[in-house]
Amino acid sequence: MSFAANTFSQCFINGDWQASESNQTFSVINPADLQPLTKVPDCTAADAESAILAAHQALNDWQQQPAKSRANLLRQWYNLILEHQDALAELMTLECGKPIAESRGEVQYAASFIEWFAEEAKRVRGDTIPAPSKDRRIQVIKQPVGVCTAITPWNFPLAMITRKCAPALAAGCTIVIKPAEGTPLSALALARLAQEAGLPAGIFNVITASQGKEVGEVLSTHPLVRKLSFTGSTAVGKQLLAQAAGTVKRTSMELGGNAPFLVFDDADIDKAVAGAMASKYRNTGQTCVCANRFLVQAGVAEAFAKALAEATRGLKVGPGLEPDTAQGPLINQAGFDKVQALVNDAVDKGATVLTGGGPHALGGLYYQPTVLTDVTGDMRLVNEEIFGPVSPIMVFKDEAEGIALANDTPFGLAAYFYTESLSRSIRVAEGLEYGMVGVNEGILSTETAPFGGIKESGLGREGSHLGIDEYLETKYLCIGGL
Ligand code: ADP
Repeated sequence: MSFAANTFSQCFINGDWQASESNQTFSVINPADLQPLTKVPDCTAADAESAILAAHQALNDWQQQPAKSRANLLRQWYNLILEHQDALAELMTLECGKPIAESRGEVQYAASFIEWFAEEAKRVRGDTIPAPSKDRRIQVIKQPVGVCTAITPWNFPLAMITRKCAPALAAGCTIVIKPAEGTPLSALALARLAQEAGLPAGIFNVITASQGKEVGEVLSTHPLVRKLSFTGSTAVGKQLLAQAAGTVKRTSMELGGNAPFLVFDDADIDKAVAGAMASKYRNTGQTCVCANRFLVQAGVAEAFAKALAEATRGLKVGPGLEPDTAQGPLINQAGFDKVQALVNDAVDKGATVLTGGGPHALGGLYYQPTVLTDVTGDMRLVNEEIFGPVSPIMVFKDEAEGIALANDTPFGLAAYFYTESLSRSIRVAEGLEYGMVGVNEGILSTETAPFGGIKESGLGREGSHLGIDEYLETKYLCIGGL
C-alpha cells in the first residue's frame, strides 16, 4: 500500500473515495519548501451533508454490534497503523513539517488511542441503584450518543483525529471528520487503513475543505449530529459552541492554552532546563500545551535563562525529513508572521534577546529558536499563544506571586513547574488553575491520562477511562409494578 502524497486526491464518504460534489480541489503545501504535494477535494456543505447522512445510516448496525466485534475491528486498524508507521510518519512530516522522529512518535501516540479505546469498548458498564420502594428497580445503562462530527487542527494531523474517533467508534457512534486544511493527508491515510481493516462503510468519514467555515457550519448545526468534538483555537471553538447551541449538541472542546512553566529557587535547574526544552520546542513550539511563558524565581532566574539560551542555541533547524533536525519550519506564512510580530512587540517594549529573535538563515518558514528575558506582562506574547520556538522569561519573587502570575490568564490547559520541595509541589499543583499540571515533568500526553482544559481552554476530556464517556449517554430505566 502506497502512502505517497500524490496518491491522495479524494475524500472518504460512506466507504467510497469521492471527489467533492463541486469538483473543486485545493493544494496541500509542504511547509519545508513551499511546494505543492497534491490536490484534495474542496468539500462543500452538500458533501458535509452526505457524509452526515452516511454516518446516520450506518449508526444502527454499528451500535448493535457486540462491543467485542467493534473492539476487534479497532484492534485490526491499530495493527495496520503500526505496520505502516514509517510511511505514515513520512507523510505527516511532508504535510506539517514536523521533525521525522516526532512524526514517528505521533503515529505511535495516535495508534495508542485506538488500542486503548478498543479495550475500553468492552468495559462500558451501567449501574443498578437501590430503589426507594419494593415494587421498583432502578437501572442505568450507557448508550452511544449517535452521529458525531470532529474538526481537527494541523499540528497533530493523526493523533487529534484518533483521540476523537477511537472513543466514538468504540462507544458505538459513527463519525464525520473534517481535518485541518493544511494537513488532510494523514487523515485520508487513516481512512485508507480503516477501509483495509474492514470498518463498515459510513462509520468513519473524512471530508477535506480549504476553509473550515462552510463545512464547519453543517457539522455543528445539522440536526442528525448529536455531538461535535473540536480541537483548535478558542475563537473558532466559541463560534462552534454557539452554533451547536441551536440544536443543543453535546460538545468536547480542546482549545487554546497559555501554559506557564514555573521554576522555583529550589528546583533542580538541569532537570528544569531539560523539561523546558521538551515542553517548549516540541513541534517547533506549535502545540497547545507548549510552555508559553517561563516564570522563574529571582534566585535562579539568571542561571536558568543562561542555560536555556545555551540549550536553545544547540537546536538544529532544518527540513523535518533530515534525521538530525530538531526544529522544522513553521506551518505557514500567517504562523510565521505572528511569531515575528510577537517577538517585535516584546523587543519594542523592552525585552532582551538572549538568542535568536528573527527569521532563520534557511529562509522560507524557518524561524530561529529564541530566548527573551526582561519580559513583562504588557507584552503580547505573555497573553497570546505564541505557536513558535520562542521562550519568554519573566521573573517572580515568591510562591504566591508565581502562582498568581501563572493563573493570570483566561486559559487553563497545561501548566508545569519545577521544585524539589514536596510541600511546595502539593501547594502549587493544587493552586494552579489548569486541567493538566506537569510536576517536574515537561511532557504530559499519554492515552492513559485525561487530556483537557478548564476556563477558556475547553470542555471535556480525551483519553483515559474518562474519554469514552464523552461519547455515551446515560439512560435511567425505572422498572415498576414488580
Ligand atoms: P489553528 O489556529 O490551530 O489553525 P483553527 O481554530 O483556525 O486553529 O483551526 C482548527 C480547525 O478548525 C481546522 O480544521 C480549521 O479548518 C477549522 N476551522 C477554522 N475556522 C472555522 C470555522 N469558522 N468553522 C468551523 N471550523 C473552522
